[in-house]
Amino acid sequence: MGQSLMLQRLREQVLEANLELVCRGLVLYTFGNVSGILREQGLVVIKPSGVPYEQMKPSHLVVVDLKGKVVQGKLRPSSDLPTHLVLYNTFREIGGVAHTHSEYATAWAQARRPIPCFGTTHADYFHGSVPVTPDLSDQEIAGDYEKETGDAIVRALQRTNCTASPGVLVANHGPFTWGVDASAAAHHAVILESIAKMAYVTVGINSEAAPVGKALHDKHYLRKHGSKAYYGQPKDSRK
Ligand SMILES: [Zn+2]
Repeated sequence: MGQSLMLQRLREQVLEANLELVCRGLVLYTFGNVSGILREQGLVVIKPSGVPYEQMKPSHLVVVDLKGKVVQGKLRPSSDLPTHLVLYNTFREIGGVAHTHSEYATAWAQARRPIPCFGTTHADYFHGSVPVTPDLSDQEIAGDYEKETGDAIVRALQRTNCTASPGVLVANHGPFTWGVDASAAAHHAVILESIAKMAYVTVGINSEAAPVGKALHDKHYLRKHGSKAYYGQPKDSRK
């Protein structure tokens, strides 16, 4: 497949992933952004800044290189692009990044509390709590703010990794999620919002609710991920 056809497909996939956030009620107005990457070419396709979702077409999406230089497109890329680029440059295994201000995940981010794993829905996706980033310093906020946000996400993953935690809460801001491609990143944004809501309700019912035990947590995480995964259908059988 030629590069232009691959880019066209990626534009369509990234647009669809952005619209998925709208369909699931995760974004208001022009909030939120999803991007995807062609790894071999080092090209990232990202939502343009400030274009209403209902008017967005594949041609509005912006193509940039891994340094943020616009390669194709007339519109300005999402202002969160530098955060996405830090994630792509640091985590070679990811193919898509999503960012929202979805209400429950953002509420945990504002409370600056990691989301404990209270049950198997969470354990199916995150191995451990959903981490919160450290605060940015005044200098970091005044400086290259969006890049510093990316660096803070990387620091929040020091005790885990980007596969075991396909998302992070940026303190006082909101969630960033990622995955093998743009649609997986959007899917994780939807799941994270659901986990955040259920955890909030759980704590409301029982303020002393304890996280799920290690055996059940590991069972659910490891049956879907890792070398001994057996949940769903083998990849080859879906072809
Ligand atoms: Zn934001």
